[in-house]
Amino acid sequence: TPDVRPLVAGNWKMNGTRSSLDQIKAISAGVTTPLAEKVDALICPPATLLYVATALCTDSPLMIGAQDCHQNQSGAHTGDISAEMIADCFGTYVIVGHSERRVDHAETDHLVRAKAEAAFAADLTAIVCIGETADERKAGQTLEILKRQLSGSVPDSATPENTVIAYEPVWAIGTGLTPTVEDVEKAHAFMREELVARFGEHGKKMRILYGGSVKPGNAKELMSVANVDGALIGGASLKAADFLAIYGVY
Ligand code: PEP
Repeated sequence: TPDVRPLVAGNWKMNGTRSSLDQIKAISAGVTTPLAEKVDALICPPATLLYVATALCTDSPLMIGAQDCHQNQSGAHTGDISAEMIADCFGTYVIVGHSERRVDHAETDHLVRAKAEAAFAADLTAIVCIGETADERKAGQTLEILKRQLSGSVPDSATPENTVIAYEPVWAIGTGLTPTVEDVEKAHAFMREELVARFGEHGKKMRILYGGSVKPGNAKELMSVANVDGALIGGASLKAADFLAIYGVY
């Protein structure tokens, strides 16, 4: 998308212990100019590694984020972490509404929107995840689902600075399956139209990532589709070499 800085983001999910910090170090060392001047790179390790990960990246353009936040600022919510805590660890992004959270923790569009608003309040950028299931796709409901999730999960106060959309077809996550280039193009064009209809000029510049089995071998093709402004990468972000190979397609 013109005037949009792509973002290549990694989601480590519930993977990574202190020994995995070597991968963060390697990614951090590999994200260098001149590419880093035009493409953003982000890793979202588990919350246990957040603080030490940001400390490892102070001299690198690599950004560090979290995978979820609570919708409230603080309080009696055992086991949860707030957006403010993420910011306090020098995290700058937070993923909200990943399909695994929507399924494992019954997160609704309404809750995801509240989490994104909590992220904004802490000056974090929210990566709002949306995407259809295999059954929804088979039933021909993909665009309808995307429309509903975009309007339900993205706050009215979203801007290109505080919000990134990640389109992740649920059936493509961790399966090695990806939609055809034509289907990715159709979905992203539709989301762009929806964002422009709602946010005007801002909607033109909001980044829309593709996620779901992005690998070094398919990244170039997927990243060159119109309105695809980067990737959200699960499995292939765990190894520095794979993440950097995907980043390197730009
Ligand atoms: C994800 O969970 O955000 C994801 C895209 O996973 P994978 O790349 O492993 O399909």
